[in-house]
Order: sequence, then structure tokens, then C-alpha cells
Amino acid sequence: MNEIKMVDLHGQYLKIKNEVDLAIQHVIDSTAFIRGADVREFQDELSTYLGVKHCIACGNGTDALQVAMMALELKPGDEVITAPFTFIATVEVIRLLGLKPVFVDVRPDTFNLDPEQLEQALTERTRAIVPVHLFGQCADMEAIMEFAQINDLYIIEDNAQALGADFLSSDGSKQKAGTIGHLGTTSFFPSKNLGAFGDGGALFTNDESFGKRAASLVNHGMQKRYYYDHVGVNSRLDTLQAAILRVKLQHLDDYHRLRQGAASWYDTTLSDIEGLQTPVRSPFTTHIFHQYTLQIEASRRDKLKQYLQEKGVPSQVYYPVPLHLQRAYADLGYQEGSLPVSEELGNSVLSLPMHTEMEQDQLAYISDHIQQFFKA
Ligand SMILES: *Cc1c(COP(=O)(O)O)cnc(C)c1O
Repeated sequence: MNEIKMVDLHGQYLKIKNEVDLAIQHVIDSTAFIRGADVREFQDELSTYLGVKHCIACGNGTDALQVAMMALELKPGDEVITAPFTFIATVEVIRLLGLKPVFVDVRPDTFNLDPEQLEQALTERTRAIVPVHLFGQCADMEAIMEFAQINDLYIIEDNAQALGADFLSSDGSKQKAGTIGHLGTTSFFPSKNLGAFGDGGALFTNDESFGKRAASLVNHGMQKRYYYDHVGVNSRLDTLQAAILRVKLQHLDDYHRLRQGAASWYDTTLSDIEGLQTPVRSPFTTHIFHQYTLQIEASRRDKLKQYLQEKGVPSQVYYPVPLHLQRAYADLGYQEGSLPVSEELGNSVLSLPMHTEMEQDQLAYISDHIQQFFKA
């Protein structure tokens, strides 16, 4: 059996090596390293894949969130509601722009923002909600959009972990995650489902004026060459990364199927274990398994992690400490106990190896050892 890894980027690369190497060489030969043709082509191809009007590539997923908030022209002191059980980037940019993060707890089953708790977080200064589509499935966008419409709020979807997942509305229509709110953002960090060979990110919108503004903001706020209408940032996707991502986008749906295949193996072999909960799917979304995350009694979680490590099986805790309890954000005034679901999840979640190159013998080995642990 090959060594088991959390993610296997090298194995994935070897399968598309010829295509990727050619694409890279082509960019080097052109020397159009910044704003080259591949960037425009990639933006067009990703727009088509997602069924969204505007796609603006940028330097990384954190910048995508920041630029989305800048495009909405939120003002210092404005409040932005988001979830505390996510990667730090989401709340970091809210703070950097002088906005105030307001946390709403997540659902204990799907780990996504709980729409029923939005009302109690609403104030006169609330301007936007940033739902995060965590681990590969959508938050309840229908409920969140309805709340936003009633209260005249913007929605920015942090779609770093669910690029390509489908959201299914109650009227039967289907939209890609990240294209439902006013703006959506994603990350091409190498371990994301669509990963570059370095940093990268993008924003999406169906709104022409937000799209135009975001496109200008990522390039210093420039409109015409050397004329600046907005204070912007320097956040561009390298042409090399765009060329690699164009190749990988062709394989993205296959990558999802491979992840879903590994997930159903885990589901079948682990679902009957007492004291362990396999991922709960929401009915209104497909799941593309950026992570396959178990819930285990808090008293046994670290023991299982240790046990697996001894057997050569890596696992990870995403995320051990919810954002409202991070020292950098202590001045927001949240206490332990204020967002109990996220705090409990920090003690009980464990993500298993999940990538496009999982082999049958590896999956069997992992689930056998998890079963053994719970028998003992
Ligand atoms: C990865 C990630 C980001 C940030 O992306 P970077 O490209 O690393 O800046 C933002 N939000 C979530 C939920 C993420 O998982």
C-alpha cells in the first residue's frame, strides 16, 4: 500500500503532467506573466462553468473576500455577520477594513451558518452576511437570501471550499455555489478542490457594476491606464497559475466524483459505529467533499487521532478553536460559551484523508482501523 496522505497533489499532477507542463512552457515562452491571455481565458471558462456573468481572478481567496467587501463600499463600523467555525480569512478581512464581525453560530449537523440565529444578530448597522460553504456543501442559501432581502443586506458567499457544488432551490432550479449572493469568492490554494501550484483566488457576480468595480479594485483601482477611480489593491492571478488552472478546471467534475467515491466508501464502512457521526448531507446541496469530517465524542477524538497516526493514517482537526475565541479577536468581547455549537465542534471534529488519488486498499485500511479503535 502507498503512503496515506491528507492530500496527494503529486499523484494528481502526474496524471495530467503532459497537459500542465505544456501549458506552463507556453506561458514561459510568451513571457506574459502578468495579465496574460490565459488569465482572461480562465475567467471566461470559469464563468461558463459556474453559469455566472462576471468572474474576476485575483491573488488569493483572502483578497477575493476583501475586494468583495470593498466592491460593496461598506463603511467602517458597518456590521458583517459570519460564522465562527471557519478559516480565519473570513473574519480577518472584515476587521482589516474596519468593519465589525458579528458571529452567528453554525448548525451542529452540517457545520454551516444557522439561518435561524440570524435575527438575534441583526442591528441597525448590519450591512452584509458572509455565509461559508464549509467542507464542500452549501449553507442554506434560500433561508439566508430571504433574510437578506427582507432586511436589505448584501450577501458574499465564501466559496473557497465548495467550488462546483450545486445549490438546489425549492422551486427545482439549480445554481452553482458562489453565484447566488451579490458576490461569491473562492480560493485556488493548492489543497482546495481546484488548486493552483501556488496562491490564487477569484470573485464572481451577476451584477455588472460590482463586477466592474471588483475588476478595477484588484488592479490598483485603475480604470484607464494610470487613471484611478478607487483606492484598490495589487491582487492578480499569475498567468502561470491561470494556465495550470485552465487545465485542471477541465478535470474538476471528475475530481469531485473521485472525492465523492471515497466519501461513500467511508460512509458505508463507518456509519454504524456507536460514538461516531459521519458527515450529514443537507438536502438542498450536492457535497463535493473538500473535507470528510467526522464528529466523535470529545473525550475520544484526540485518542482516535493519535491511534490513527500510530497506524500511519494522518488526520486533521479543522478547526480546533472557533474564531470568536482567538486572541487576536478578543476585543470583540465574546466569551467561552457564547457560541456553543462551534466550541463543541472544535473539540469533536476530525477530518480524514480526502483527495482525488485515494486508493481502495488505503480506504479499506483507514476504515478498518477506525472500526478497530471503536471496538476496543
Ligand atoms: C482557504 C480559505 C480561504 C482563503 O483562501 P486563501 O487563498 O488561502 O487566501 C478563505 N475562506 C475559507 C473558508 C477557506 O477555506
